[in-house]
Amino acid sequence: MSSYNGKCHCGNTEWTAELTDDQKGHILCHCDTCKYLSGSTFTLNQIIPKSALKISKGEDKLSKYTYYGESGKPVYCYFCPNCSAHVYHHQTVMGDDTIILRTGMLPEALKDFKPAAEIFGKAKLPWEKEVAQTFETLPPQ
Ligand SMILES: [Zn+2]
Ligand SMILES: [Zn+2]
Repeated sequence: MSSYNGKCHCGNTEWTAELTDDQKGHILCHCDTCKYLSGSTFTLNQIIPKSALKISKGEDKLSKYTYYGESGKPVYCYFCPNCSAHVYHHQTVMGDDTIILRTGMLPEALKDFKPAAEIFGKAKLPWEKEVAQTFETLPPQ
């Protein structure tokens, strides 16, 4: 278990994530939603229990954006209303206690982690090289 600190771009929100050894890697998500929300070709994520994320500053001020994922179930995106940085996503299809954390917003993790997997490979652009095991959508459960 290691602690990683994160903050949003404006600094109004700060958090700490506890990650186990097998969570110390970036899951690259190439889905179309990630393209829109990031303005880039993929996002860097890890799937963690909700209890592993402690928001130390600004939790009560976070805004929530809801969209419906491929499953038809809602996905809640929690973001800083001032700078718009997304702190975490809750995919309700994955249960109440599981969240998607942006490893790209934990400076130590961003630097040290290697790509662990690529998901939604079907939406990957043709010029993007494979850097980890790639799944068409999600890995089989
Ligand atoms: Zn902010
Ligand atoms: Zn995505």
